[in-house]
Amino acid sequence: MKDLDIVAGAGIWGCTVARRLAEAGRKVLVLERRPVAGGNVRCETDRSTGIEVHVYGSHIFHTHSREVWDFIRRFTDFNGYQHKVLAMYKGAVYHLPLGLTLINKFFGVELKPGEVDAFMSDPAHSTAIFDAFFRGYTSKQWGRPPEAIDPGIIKRVPVRGNYDTNYFNDYWQGIPSDGYNALFDRLLDHPSITVECNRAVTLGEIVRSDARKVYYSGPVDSLFDYRFGALPWRSLRFETEKLDVADFQGTSVMNYTEADVPWTRIHEFKHYHPELKDAMSAPATVICREYPKTWAPGDEPYYPVNTPESSALLARYAQEAAKVPNLVVGGRLGQYKYYDMDQAVLAALELDLGLR
Ligand SMILES: Cc1cc2nc3c(=O)[nH]c(=O)nc-3n(C[C@H](O)[C@H](O)[C@H](O)COP(=O)(O)OP(=O)(O)OC[C@H]3O[C@@H](n4cnc5c(N)ncnc54)[C@H](O)[C@@H]3O)c2cc1C
Repeated sequence: MKDLDIVAGAGIWGCTVARRLAEAGRKVLVLERRPVAGGNVRCETDRSTGIEVHVYGSHIFHTHSREVWDFIRRFTDFNGYQHKVLAMYKGAVYHLPLGLTLINKFFGVELKPGEVDAFMSDPAHSTAIFDAFFRGYTSKQWGRPPEAIDPGIIKRVPVRGNYDTNYFNDYWQGIPSDGYNALFDRLLDHPSITVECNRAVTLGEIVRSDARKVYYSGPVDSLFDYRFGALPWRSLRFETEKLDVADFQGTSVMNYTEADVPWTRIHEFKHYHPELKDAMSAPATVICREYPKTWAPGDEPYYPVNTPESSALLARYAQEAAKVPNLVVGGRLGQYKYYDMDQAVLAALELDLGLR
């Protein structure tokens, strides 16, 4: 079976690795724990409206990497969506990120470019902004006050001195024109790739397997049955609801920055495809409230919590992984690292497949 490679985990990292292997002439078996490929980028289409619902929270593709963009564009077009994020604070709506639009509205002033830094260097101003837009949100997101995460955080909140309300600075961004699922279908559509879903791969299987390599992108702690303890993940709970209104909040993502609102944000998915006129004008919409929570066994792991203890624990798991000769661990769960989609693709494109 040395002519076979196994890819365990069909997220964007695993699918990119699978595609590269297949195009290099390898036979590839993709094994995915869930019933479908796509990892956390997977979507479902609401049948009656045609709205693409992001099952694991909003995903906007954005990148500055020509290599990533050229690769991903082989499998999809993008619709040109430009991401904006609004924030609800005490019943008023503000444009993030922190820039002239937000500061002028919040303080009722008319600052000009070039005046922002001096204005924000007044601790009364920076503290007021921090308390309104960052303190509650960060506490909800991480389950700890911001100063417990990073004592210098108030001084380092990035401020834009202009009216640019684009959330990302990346050169390319958008949503796949015919949806994320079609992107994954095309990535895996190769005569040398076989996909089996509902197949959770175990360490025992990997050790016994005579595949040349097993590329694993599930959680590294779960692969080793949490033998040194669980890594401290943050999890999320999504509450999705279909409403009989054409437009619930007028935008795709609204952050709720107050600590006593239990969700961090509300997603409204139809706004990701403004070009789909039928879905946009449908008299119904799909929204999703996102609630952060501490990870417990059985929950999906979403975000790594980086502390000195978690780094030490990760190093122990990495040492264990290195002892398994045919195992390659990657992706956001395998590396215990927050990756945007483009970073996961880049990591997969740069991985040495050992095929010379
Ligand atoms: C709430 C949220 C919002 C995000 N929004 C954005 C965004 O707007 N833009 C952006 O670029 N990025 C975003 N990201 C990041 C994005 O989700 C990741 O970049 C991407 O999911 C990484 O892909 P991956 O393949 O590494 O991991 P995953 O997508 O998690 O894929 C791993 C796969 O492995 C499978 N698996 C696990 N264990 C096993 C096993 N034992 N055997 C077989 N299969 C297994 C899992 O079921 C999963 O399908 C967001 C992340 C979160 C949490």
